[in-house]
Amino acid sequence: MQVDFLIVGQGLAGSLLAQELRRRGRTVHVVDDGWKSASSQVAAGLMTPLTGRRFTLTKDYPELFAAAQERLTARGVFRPTSVYRMFVDDEQRAKGLKRTECRSCQPFIVRVTSAPGELDAGLTDAFGGALMNGAWVDLPKLMSDVRAELLAAGSLTEAAFDPADAVTDDEGISWRHVRAGAIIYCDGYKSALRGPFKYLPWQPSKGEALTLRTSVDTKPFILNREGWALPLGQGVWRTGANWQWDQLDETPTDPQKEKFIRRFRGYFGEAVQVEVTAHVAGVRPCTSDNHPFMGTHPQQPRTHLFGGLGPRGTVWAPLMAEEMAAYLCDGTALRPECNLSRFAPAG
Ligand SMILES: Cc1cc2nc3c(=O)[nH]c(=O)nc-3n(C[C@H](O)[C@H](O)[C@H](O)COP(=O)(O)OP(=O)(O)OC[C@H]3O[C@@H](n4cnc5c(N)ncnc54)[C@H](O)[C@@H]3O)c2cc1C
Repeated sequence: MQVDFLIVGQGLAGSLLAQELRRRGRTVHVVDDGWKSASSQVAAGLMTPLTGRRFTLTKDYPELFAAAQERLTARGVFRPTSVYRMFVDDEQRAKGLKRTECRSCQPFIVRVTSAPGELDAGLTDAFGGALMNGAWVDLPKLMSDVRAELLAAGSLTEAAFDPADAVTDDEGISWRHVRAGAIIYCDGYKSALRGPFKYLPWQPSKGEALTLRTSVDTKPFILNREGWALPLGQGVWRTGANWQWDQLDETPTDPQKEKFIRRFRGYFGEAVQVEVTAHVAGVRPCTSDNHPFMGTHPQQPRTHLFGGLGPRGTVWAPLMAEEMAAYLCDGTALRPECNLSRFAPAG
């Protein structure tokens, strides 16, 4: 089978890039190992405008959010939802109030509450909080929709790809029955562990999440304080997450489960019944400077990478998949801050 591009991995990155290349008339073949290590299957897919202890808005967030909203709405997986960030202390509250004066933050901040219980009497928001315009993305639906499209087109092989099995010559890459003009790694944090892009400064981080059946009614917003809780209706919530830089695997752990349940219960003033219906773990493909890794291997002109989406894949991926496709098809320059050429290989 002859194609333009062989794509390794069908997570968020591989799904959107495959789609974008096909939209531009290019042929692709995707190899994925059945989402064995897909952080896209673990992520809640939240898009939260102001984040971190310092409650900051990422520089390109407005542009990235607008693009994601348009592209993912067209795919039927974008769910606009408010996010209520409950402040942990007076200092954070002061930062929240200050952000309401910042012009680029204003479209994302609906209001800052001035007293506990003002938004919802059932919450333990002793220092108030900020209600923001956010969203979540139905990643499992997006990925299974794209998978069905690729399978229908005969463009997906379910297998574990080993870089050692791919043979590169002057004209292209051969892997099993596929002959491709170029290969694109979209294999998430696995590129940090092996393969041609291992040299980049990855900082993969494991995280876990729970699905709970609870006695708490749904809320019209996502809750956020040292973690998050996403209401899915009828008392079902997803909650997470944590950050762990060692033991990079997909194994959920009991200590995290207990911690998430305690934290979830702590959001509410009343006693809460919970039953855990799912507990998952994955590894975020984080990078040393919090920007994606996109572009071409410095010594292998037919070997490309689209990855390093970190903790905010839903924000980066839609626009960056388009920019990566334009780079591959038309030679359009990548943003310098995302081009992997900003890091030279050691030696
Ligand atoms: C707990 C947790 C919570 C998160 N929450 C959010 C959130 O709320 N919002 C947000 O935007 N982001 C969140 N993220 C981050 C988000 O998951 C990532 O940014 C994004 O999903 C990365 O997509 P990807 O396609 O690059 O990688 P992945 O989703 O990991 O996809 C890589 C794919 O390649 C496959 N693969 C790997 N190696 C091989 C191989 N050798 N052969 C074949 N296939 C292979 C994998 O199985 C997988 O299917 C979270 C992540 C975690 C772990």
